[in-house]
Amino acid sequence: MADIVLDKVSKKFPDGTVAVSEVDLEIADGEFVILVGPSGCGKSTTLNMIAGLEDISSGELRIGGQRVNDKAPRDRDIAMVFQSYALYPNMTVRENMAFPLRLAKLDKATIDKKVDDAAKVLELTALLDRKPANLSGGQRQRVAMGRAIVRQPKAFLMDEPLSNLDAKLRVQMRTVVSRLQKQLGTTTVYVTHDQTEAMTLGDRVVIMRGGAIQQVGPPQELYDHPRNLFVAGFIGSPSMNFLHAAVEGGTLRTALGDVPLGDRLRRELEAGDAPRELILGIRPEHFEDAELVDDDTRRRGMEFEAPVDIVESMGSDKYVYFTVEGERASAAELEELAADTGADFAGAGGNLVTRLSAESTVAEGENRRVWFNLEKIHLFDPSNGRNLT
Ligand code: ATP
Repeated sequence: MADIVLDKVSKKFPDGTVAVSEVDLEIADGEFVILVGPSGCGKSTTLNMIAGLEDISSGELRIGGQRVNDKAPRDRDIAMVFQSYALYPNMTVRENMAFPLRLAKLDKATIDKKVDDAAKVLELTALLDRKPANLSGGQRQRVAMGRAIVRQPKAFLMDEPLSNLDAKLRVQMRTVVSRLQKQLGTTTVYVTHDQTEAMTLGDRVVIMRGGAIQQVGPPQELYDHPRNLFVAGFIGSPSMNFLHAAVEGGTLRTALGDVPLGDRLRRELEAGDAPRELILGIRPEHFEDAELVDDDTRRRGMEFEAPVDIVESMGSDKYVYFTVEGERASAAELEELAADTGADFAGAGGNLVTRLSAESTVAEGENRRVWFNLEKIHLFDPSNGRNLT
């Protein structure tokens, strides 16, 4: 078994920076887990502690049930793949991949067999005699992965392995990594700041911010049920729209009109010290051109009219930006969130971003009726960011 358990693991650097704070995480044997979050959130430090490249300040790290806090990296039986390929330029692909096995003093026949097997999995067989200089970026990264898998380690740790590749190659390599992980069934922890990679690659995604875990779950769960404003703004592209909403009786006054509250929420908000101000979150894909909505669908949502600012045709759909007036959210949480996630906050003065069907005839400069799905909205408490829906 090669499960990886972090039990209240923290990292405090000598200068006092707390990069990771009491992180609890259980990664099952064979699981593919992605650590994602904005720059500086502590994901690389977490990975480096698992690898043994950084000391653990407090807490316990167990690999395969064994405490490894004080074990040297080479004794942890794990392989790392970095963003830089770190291949030996004077060695062929075969020699590069064989290198860790030669260090382990395996015999030549075994080494050849292991390298040939790994090359087959990574479709590198035809390139085994080439030098790295004569390979493309994607091929080099495959060799770097090959060098990691020949050792058949207990776990793979990958730190932004695809971020040096151009956008198209990155998409191709995503499928290579995904297939490889499934084929080998090796426990894998993968660090990225790219939410698309996070959503497409892993069994579970760990969202970090400021050295702490914000939420852990399968990608779809994080998308459907973000626990707080930060996760909601971080997952999804373009980002979720956030609007100021004032609770008045059973409705919410917003820039898009009065939004009815569901029974459960109404009861909760009526009870005691509930906030009188909320943040309404709506994903761009939960809007539609009102002309294109059938009656059945229409009943599940509501409509508003707003001036069209910009239309971006993506071919398969249209990103349409609307100017919405209304009260502006001032919550410091929103400002901070915007800086962290790059999310656009309609209520804080930005435009409303919608993703409408390609068939929509929407044009810049006109006023347009837009529908949105009330079953998909999120409501957040601005004082702590908690998702109340
Ligand atoms: P990025 O995506 O930019 O690589 P990250 O999420 O991987 O970011 P880390 O590299 O883990 O973040 O850094 C977490 C925090 O620890 C940051 O605030 C960083 O400045 C700090 N940090 C990292 N290394 C050191 C160090 N050696 N000494 C002091 N602080 C450090």
